[in-house]
Amino acid sequence: MKNPFENAMQQLTNAADVIGVDENVLSLLQRPQQIHEIAIPVKMDNGKLKTFRGYRVQYNNARGPYKGGIRFHPMVDIDEVKALSFWMTIKCAVVGLPYGGSKGGVEVDPRELSKRELQELSRGYVRGLYLEIGPKIDIPAPDVYTNEQIMGWMMDQYSLLKGYTSPGSFTGKPVEIGGITARASATARGGFILLERMMKKLNKKPAEMRVAVQGFGNAGYTFACLAYDAGYTIVGVSDSKGAIVSKNGKGINPYDVFERKQEKGKIYCDKSVCDMKEYKAVTNEELLVMDCDVLVPAAIENQITAENAQDIKATTVIELANGPTTPEADVVLHDKGVVVIPDVLANAGGVTVSYFEWLQNIQNTSWSESETNRKLSEIMTQSYEQMHKSAEKYNVNYRTASFILAIERITSAMEGRGWV
Ligand code: GLU
Repeated sequence: MKNPFENAMQQLTNAADVIGVDENVLSLLQRPQQIHEIAIPVKMDNGKLKTFRGYRVQYNNARGPYKGGIRFHPMVDIDEVKALSFWMTIKCAVVGLPYGGSKGGVEVDPRELSKRELQELSRGYVRGLYLEIGPKIDIPAPDVYTNEQIMGWMMDQYSLLKGYTSPGSFTGKPVEIGGITARASATARGGFILLERMMKKLNKKPAEMRVAVQGFGNAGYTFACLAYDAGYTIVGVSDSKGAIVSKNGKGINPYDVFERKQEKGKIYCDKSVCDMKEYKAVTNEELLVMDCDVLVPAAIENQITAENAQDIKATTVIELANGPTTPEADVVLHDKGVVVIPDVLANAGGVTVSYFEWLQNIQNTSWSESETNRKLSEIMTQSYEQMHKSAEKYNVNYRTASFILAIERITSAMEGRGWV
């Protein structure tokens, strides 16, 4: 698998070359400001101690406190966390949030842990890093295989260590302790707002559009539901074990799949979408190249590559995952006329609503869910228009266009602070 940080740096270079970025600025954007690596000891249920490796990479805070999720995944490594923290820096700038970018991760398969072990691991992560994070320094949030419950434990641990309750230290928390209802659906909703915008521009009706979604975590599942409710036909969904596609064009009901996959009270699902026998089981690779109009990668990096880009049938790709398309594949897709809404905008709904949650926490106020969603829609639509304009101005694809916007904004902040 290609090193995601190298991919990220290639994307940076592609945009920097178009606008001719100053070399001092570029050298600052080519490395993270701080890298923290910690060992997290956890007393396992069998009485033995197991030590996990955890990271927090704080990439750039020119525009405000660092912001970014924490991933629990067996494939987490330093290059992935660096790439993800860089993409957070770009993403927050693309949607104009007053944040820098960071990311955290633990190399673990959390599905193999008991609930108690998972809580110990989450608290251990905070014990190792609490001096480096906080509402004014760096605000973590959920990412792949982390969720509200984990954010709740982490916020509690941070608060215990500080001696006061600090709801603004983490976003994506349970509603009872300062989370907001709109956060759970925000990543998907942001991407869905963009899908609707695109379809309007193309004069397409939802009923004509076949959507395939790779990944059935929070973002992928919620996106499938939003699209299904709006009348799009969901022709394929997948999870880490495999994919299913609808037989004879009838479409898939994502609510039904979720209900049968999810066992009540469990943090992670044991079952797979592939257990649904009325659909045709295929591989994740087959799902990506299936016959559809809109492809939504909502899993992990490096899924659309030089090997399969030529075979992609979709005409629109909405990247709910971070880094699903390699730079080589980007070239192929662009040449084929496939429109890619890049991750740094497509999945920015999540961090945008995290920002709203944090704002409400630090100001001790609360907004209604409809108010939150209205503000999200405003930001997503406005950012889309800005990206579109930048793409036309420089005659580049949407990814490079959004990187250009972000680089300009981060550069202004670095100049304002006197860093360059
Ligand atoms: N992990 C999410 C992302 O990649 C959300 C980050 C946040 O809310 O801070 O954008």
